[in-house]
Amino acid sequence: MKTSAREAVRAVVFTALFLLLLLIFALIASGDQYAAERARMIEEDLRGRDITDQVVLDAMGKVPRHLFVEARYRDSAYADHPLPISEGQTISQPYIVALMTQVLRLKPSDRVLEIGTGSGYQAAVLAVIVKEVYTIEIVEPLADRAQKLLADLGYRNVTVKYGDGYQGWEEHAPFDAVIITAAADRIPEPLIKQLKDGGRLVMPVGGTPFVQTLTLGTKRGSRLDTERICPVAFVPMTGEIQKRKEK
Ligand code: SAH
Repeated sequence: MKTSAREAVRAVVFTALFLLLLLIFALIASGDQYAAERARMIEEDLRGRDITDQVVLDAMGKVPRHLFVEARYRDSAYADHPLPISEGQTISQPYIVALMTQVLRLKPSDRVLEIGTGSGYQAAVLAVIVKEVYTIEIVEPLADRAQKLLADLGYRNVTVKYGDGYQGWEEHAPFDAVIITAAADRIPEPLIKQLKDGGRLVMPVGGTPFVQTLTLGTKRGSRLDTERICPVAFVPMTGEIQKRKEK
């Protein structure tokens, strides 16, 4: 081969290699963008406040929150506020997800019931920490979407059900922990019944639509001892609990 031909081949090979490297860097950078935002969220918004449970911090460092929000909000998925998820519902602020998870003091062997699947994000965080997660959502399209997303992302220990969470999930009771991510003026009685002795329950409790009190309950015998944690703003729990209020 002539020198000029050899040089031309070399130039083509080098260009191809250069383009390949560029593509790899672009791919890494696009993945890293969210990893970097997740790391910032963990340090500033969670550890920077009072989230000290390493298990919770690690779980939230793993779950790709940007895949649980609508595509148009992806770039603010890790920001310090809640986001709309469609059907007029919201995905909670990361700090509130972390706080609610932390106060439950979960163990790897636990079985947890969640009322209000929404996007499925809180369920995914729980699924990283515990053995089994059962979650109920009253808006059918949300239940369907969350079920599919959780399955696609490989969270095999989450079971999603479409329905009213007021009556809990008798078939899988009792639970080590119960988390309700929609607000009502009181804690539904069936959910207290389905909690194990010594188990923990967390819920935004309050009659007003804009501010409620995040409340932690600990089951002692058949009684639930409650303590107030902080003011929060959640969407209302709908279905049976509202019908009963009217009576
Ligand atoms: N945990 C969710 C956010 C919850 S928003 C997440 O991580 O994205 C509150 C959700 O509770 C909404 O999706 C709403 O439809 C649902 N919800 C309200 N009342 C309910 C009920 N009675 N039973 C089950 N889900 C309910």
